[in-house]
Amino acid sequence: MKLILITGGCGFIGSNFVQYLLEKYSDIYVINLDKLTYAGRKINLPPVLKRRHKLIIGDICDNKLVGSLFKKYEFNSVIHFAAESHVDRSIDSPDGFINTNILGTLNLLEHSRKYFFKSKNINFRFLHISTDEVYGSLGKYGKFVETTPYDPSSPYSASKAGSDHLVRAWNRTYDLPTLITNCSNNYGPYQFPEKLIPLMIINALKDKSLPVYGKGENVRDWLYVLDHCKAILTVLENGIAGQTYNIGGNNEIKNIHVVETICKVLDHLIPKSGSESYKKLIKFVQDRPGHDFRYAIDASKIRLELGWSPKESFESGIEKTIKWYIHNIDWWEPIYSTQKCQKRLGVL
Ligand code: NAD
Repeated sequence: MKLILITGGCGFIGSNFVQYLLEKYSDIYVINLDKLTYAGRKINLPPVLKRRHKLIIGDICDNKLVGSLFKKYEFNSVIHFAAESHVDRSIDSPDGFINTNILGTLNLLEHSRKYFFKSKNINFRFLHISTDEVYGSLGKYGKFVETTPYDPSSPYSASKAGSDHLVRAWNRTYDLPTLITNCSNNYGPYQFPEKLIPLMIINALKDKSLPVYGKGENVRDWLYVLDHCKAILTVLENGIAGQTYNIGGNNEIKNIHVVETICKVLDHLIPKSGSESYKKLIKFVQDRPGHDFRYAIDASKIRLELGWSPKESFESGIEKTIKWYIHNIDWWEPIYSTQKCQKRLGVL
């Protein structure tokens, strides 16, 4: 059995990844270290996975706990998803982002370094999951490549940039075999309903207004979460230690078009009475402070060197996602009603 430490495996991408990994391989056992913050949920992982998955509820910043895990288990790899991940929340309360994203990553790196030198396992890898937001904002043209200078705009992206720098430094200074992936915006099942796509789907289903920041002109490069999971596994298995890989969906879309597409699919799947379009619910609201205008990923490196490319188009991925939210009301209804997901955060 290969033993993998996954952090944040009860969050959106982490839980999709754990399911994908355990379904693909029968000789892998996952230790999932997750604090179960508001964004992490046990039910994101179906009970059927229990045989090869152990959830440890705890904080990646906890020196003693992380140390005890590295003492107890012989990990083949660490895949580090755990983070505070919502830009609007980072504007209101940056401290938690600095703690988890920077100090938590430092704690994992230090224990990985000590473990790696003791175990002498040359196949050990520390894979750090990061974001394209570390590169800052693009104008109308150009794309982020792996060598684009870091220029983060929000407390969230600054904390992720800080963690990326630490990971790179632990490779260069201590020869820890690290890998970094910088990915564009994900969407798909199990995404917490504060993020743009699930929030718009659920608000529309509840006949509530669809708040679009500014004029909806900001552009994101959307990637279906399963395509991201496949890219992560590709990098873990075939990436070169010390390298960074950009991951993108080749799906640059303005926010307003994302919301209009959701409305169009819903008009087809669940027509409103009187055939009024869901688009009528769209409402433009105050923009996010420091809102990056455009992100776009050049994913040539991972495509040419490792043979990965996304399989899902935005049209097919968004339809699957909308259907998932329609069929999984029991998953989102309790969160949506108790976590005040409709409440606007991150305005000064
Ligand atoms: P998420 O917010 O859905 O999940 C984060 C998970 O980490 C949760 O399960 C939470 O309980 C856990 N966690 C938070 N703080 C913790 C701590 N101190 N100790 C242990 N566990 C803790 O996030 P996500 O959208 O799944 O993102 C996962 C990773 O991917 C993050 O590192 C994020 O920066 C990166 N990323 C996300 C996107 C995206 O579009 N969602 C895009 C690129 C990169």
